[in-house]
Amino acid sequence: MKIHNFSAGPCILPQEVFDRMSQAVLNFNNTGLSLMEISHRHPEAEEVMRNTIRLTKELLNVPNTHEVIFTQGGASLQFVMVPFNLMRENGGKAAYLDTGVWASKAIAEAKRMGMTEVVASSSDKKYSYIPKTYEIPSDADYFHCTSNNTVAGTQMKSFPDSPIPIVCDMSSDIMSKEVDISKFDLIYGGTQKNMGPAGNAVAIVKKEILGKTGRNIPTYLNYQTHIDKESTFNTWSVLAVYGAMCNLEWLKKIGGIPEISKRNKAKSELMYAEIDRNGMFAGPVALEDRSDMNATFVLKDENLKDEFDTMWKAAGIVNLKGHRIVGGYRASMYNAMPIESVQVLVDVMKAFEEKFG
Ligand SMILES: *Cc1c(COP(=O)(O)O)cnc(C)c1O
Repeated sequence: MKIHNFSAGPCILPQEVFDRMSQAVLNFNNTGLSLMEISHRHPEAEEVMRNTIRLTKELLNVPNTHEVIFTQGGASLQFVMVPFNLMRENGGKAAYLDTGVWASKAIAEAKRMGMTEVVASSSDKKYSYIPKTYEIPSDADYFHCTSNNTVAGTQMKSFPDSPIPIVCDMSSDIMSKEVDISKFDLIYGGTQKNMGPAGNAVAIVKKEILGKTGRNIPTYLNYQTHIDKESTFNTWSVLAVYGAMCNLEWLKKIGGIPEISKRNKAKSELMYAEIDRNGMFAGPVALEDRSDMNATFVLKDENLKDEFDTMWKAAGIVNLKGHRIVGGYRASMYNAMPIESVQVLVDVMKAFEEKFG
């Protein structure tokens, strides 16, 4: 039976990416070596990193004021690298928008480093909306926001004009739609929510914002290290980067960001139309802030939970459960998910209503 994987992360990837990765594990580019045993200094391995950086720049139209790097440690290490690289050691201050679980983890790390102001928070309503009226203090070193809140299922549809450098955690919607990179000073994300397998973070750094904090930054945590070494400072995760490269080549082949954003929009419209139409379900998130990547919904009658769970599992759907701290359901519809899989879920929801409504 075909499996429809609605996982919130790691993301699903196109079949051809799995096929190419499998082949490369056995015999990489006819070198007779596995990608797992090849030196990260091998010219063909370095070519993998260069291609992945080049494709990221090309697909996202990254201006030459910015540099693209890949590091390990996922987005969680970026929570630490951001204040290390951007918050002044003496009298430094950061401003954060608190829109969810991940934003609050980023805030916790910044607080270890210095004064951290939360300009607004939607924690009062379980992060079911994006705060829109707040002021960004002009005396802070940077403003940090989270474009897509993977757990609650909200997404920023626009970004504030910031008087200070703007930093964005785009872990779960990078590469899913068009973004004007020049409006941001730093964008980062774990790669496992749209770009490739787990094992890396991507960062898109405006070069001129670095080197201004007066901090003695540990070598690995310094963005400049990875810029100078073209993301090959130490033994990097060749296999995971290769997966990202294959995935970005797939994305380019199908038509890049303009095409994928159309597909993603069609999927989320189909999904939300059913959540709204179907009398058995409700969407907990403010309509204008709904995420195109992660659609959250709840049963109006929790007593029917076992019946609904049995039905979607029987249809080959997996990983539909909401995050453990919010409950309900969450359909994550990352780039590689075909609309046919969303249709399978919608059909189950319809059949459920017919049976129990
Ligand atoms: C998943 C996620 C993270 C954490 O990513 P890791 O790579 O596991 O550290 C951070 N921010 C957002 C928005 C996420 O979706």
